[in-house]
Amino acid sequence: MRSQTPPIKDLVLVGGGHSHALLLRMFGMKPLLGLRITLISDSSHAPYSGMLPGLIAGHYSFDEAHIDLRRLCQWANARFISDSVTAINPKTQKLSLSSQSDIDFDILSINIGSTPTRSHIVGAEKFAIQVKPVSKFLGYLKENQTSLKSRTGSKISIIGGGTGGVELAFALKHLSQGNAKISIFQSAPEIIPEQSPSVRSLVNRVLKRKGINITPNSKVIQVDASQIEVEGGQVFESDHNILVTQAAPAPFLRTSGLTNHRGFIEINSFLQSRKFPFIFAAGDVAELSGSKQEKSGVYAVRQAKTLARNIRSFLRQKPLSPFVPQKDFLRLIGTADGKAIASKSQFGCRSSLLWQLKQIIDKRFMAKFSKLRFPKQRVAFSLANSQLERASRTLSTKVKFWCTGCGEKVGARVLHEGLSGLNESQMQFDDASVVSIENDKILLQSIDHISAFISDEYSFGKIAVNHAFSDIFAMGAEAHSALVSLHVPYSSENVSKRIIERTMQAISTGLDGFGATLLGGHTTRAEKLAAGIVANGRSQLPLLTKAGARANDHLVLTRPLGSGILIAAQMQGKAKGYDLDDMLAEMMKSNYEAVDIIQKYQVSACSDVTGFGLIGHLIEIISSSKVNAKLKLESLPILNGVFNLIEQKIESSIAVENRWCESLISGDSKDSDNLLYQLLFDPQTAGGLIVTISPEKSADLCRELRDVGYSEAKVIGEITELTEEVGARIFV
Ligand SMILES: Cc1cc2nc3c(=O)[nH]c(=O)nc-3n(C[C@H](O)[C@H](O)[C@H](O)COP(=O)(O)OP(=O)(O)OC[C@H]3O[C@@H](n4cnc5c(N)ncnc54)[C@H](O)[C@@H]3O)c2cc1C
Repeated sequence: MRSQTPPIKDLVLVGGGHSHALLLRMFGMKPLLGLRITLISDSSHAPYSGMLPGLIAGHYSFDEAHIDLRRLCQWANARFISDSVTAINPKTQKLSLSSQSDIDFDILSINIGSTPTRSHIVGAEKFAIQVKPVSKFLGYLKENQTSLKSRTGSKISIIGGGTGGVELAFALKHLSQGNAKISIFQSAPEIIPEQSPSVRSLVNRVLKRKGINITPNSKVIQVDASQIEVEGGQVFESDHNILVTQAAPAPFLRTSGLTNHRGFIEINSFLQSRKFPFIFAAGDVAELSGSKQEKSGVYAVRQAKTLARNIRSFLRQKPLSPFVPQKDFLRLIGTADGKAIASKSQFGCRSSLLWQLKQIIDKRFMAKFSKLRFPKQRVAFSLANSQLERASRTLSTKVKFWCTGCGEKVGARVLHEGLSGLNESQMQFDDASVVSIENDKILLQSIDHISAFISDEYSFGKIAVNHAFSDIFAMGAEAHSALVSLHVPYSSENVSKRIIERTMQAISTGLDGFGATLLGGHTTRAEKLAAGIVANGRSQLPLLTKAGARANDHLVLTRPLGSGILIAAQMQGKAKGYDLDDMLAEMMKSNYEAVDIIQKYQVSACSDVTGFGLIGHLIEIISSSKVNAKLKLESLPILNGVFNLIEQKIESSIAVENRWCESLISGDSKDSDNLLYQLLFDPQTAGGLIVTISPEKSADLCRELRDVGYSEAKVIGEITELTEEVGARIFV
């Protein structure tokens, strides 16, 4: 399943619509050697249109009705970039993104769907919500759930009477437990004009029975907070205005030179742009010249096979095959009451069996994406000697695979043993090394090396620079400069250039943000992208160190724990895309701003929490300060999704080694079945800071940190007197 041939060309997929999700699955099963695939999506989860009304009605959970695109890409060995495309330039073969540097492509495919138009309705931007993007609409439903379900019956206006509008009306009626007063406003004389008269009259009857009002020949021209106005001047009371109007294309496409007069991408029967043959498009965003195809998920699904085949053929300079749309197909409209209406040609009927059939079809489709098999990650040992083999087996029962990110570093015990032969007087064991350069000025240096645990090299570059400078900031120093050693994956010159460009742009942007300069670097070819960064800092004494903690001080942790577990789960295909999104958002926030605040409060000790986990870094503080610590495990801030993964016994490979210090921990909560206790050993990539501060100031410090975006900053325990002869201990 994995391509061993270095990538030569870049296929970039814009939008995680139905066609691209299926295409990724096809290329995952049958990779094209030498092709690097990238998906850029503004959301890591794509809704499946067939289940959309069921999701709104509450029949399906978010996970059941969404494709996890991050996970799909990982399985298909494709790069995933979480961002919005804001411009396409076919001439330079570049895409602009809303928050990252540009992306180059050799072949491009676009499957970004459409959104209901609101251009002809005054006030729609402020007082109406479009059913797409679905994530925004789901947010609206959540925010307004009390009103939508109100017993007094809120007034919901659905603007647009196509199949989508009708299905939405049934779903919202169910969601409101029958309470909402729903009206469908339709500019045409009939609802669902695309259906046959007999199906239409069946749908009309069901709507009437459910008390859903239809207002035909009513073109909505204005909306506000409490009413809507239709052409002709009639006004209706309305609490919620929902747009399910005609599909409109994304405005940014207008400047691409790829569109027809309606703003959609103009394609030929091979799903290829008419002007630029190396650009393909499918689904709602694409329109075949000279034909007006209905906007429906069914077409996006059906086009996937032709799209994948034609992209493959185009790259291999073989003839392409046309997409031939089906004239008619079976449509199943759920009525959100355990029944569905089936329609084909002139005929329509409604029954509970049809709803069951719809569920089977939709669930089977989604199983293609939820039941992906990930190869088992195992440590490869190839030792001949039987004694060594036994030893390797013992280790491999504990360590099932080696983690990336900060989990790939060597454990603290092994590291100290390995360095024990060196002259200790030449070494420093604080976060960064301190070199005096003039009387009162010092230079701090630290080095970190991590390999990419995500496929998006831009996000990786940002995280790598945050991770490397964390040691400098933990000592209260200013960032000065950096040297970068980049491991560039084997690839063609073009692809290598693109990898270097994006990684270095991210690193350089990160350095700019800290006021630091890039001094130089070095590259090496490797299997995997990795960055080693020498971080230089400068300071006037005194520095923040690990040695100043005093009894009664509070322990404050600035950011949530659990990134090691999430990275380990991701490698096994067990992490949810939205949990990884949250984790990456935390990692991309550096400790730069936090340190400014921390210094203002004159904290007594500080360290960053990275590979040795909270416990390892706290032990460094209490050993240097000659104190004990008491942790309140129930106060630990935790990243979303981590508990569930610990329950599945997922942990980072280095967590095993981080347990070397368990003999220094005592207390009732010291229990390996306690999920919070296990979190203490989890390595953090670009983790937060742990500081000790007098109890009078800790609440204000946490408040100020939360105000600038460290939303989980918390007191997690306190420092106590050293009570035992045996040295520093941690109580839990
Ligand atoms: C209420 C409702 C019910 C429906 N029910 C059905 C049904 O039962 N069956 C059916 O066949 N059709 C149904 N449809 C129609 C269906 O939703 C669309 O036709 C279908 O989703 C189009 O699929 P697509 O693959 O073209 O794009 P989409 O499924 O819309 O996917 C496009 C993706 O691209 C992403 N994207 C958008 N812009 C950007 C950007 N600039 N950069 C990066 N990513 C971007 C979006 O987040 C999205 O994930 C329904 C529509 C509605 C409104």
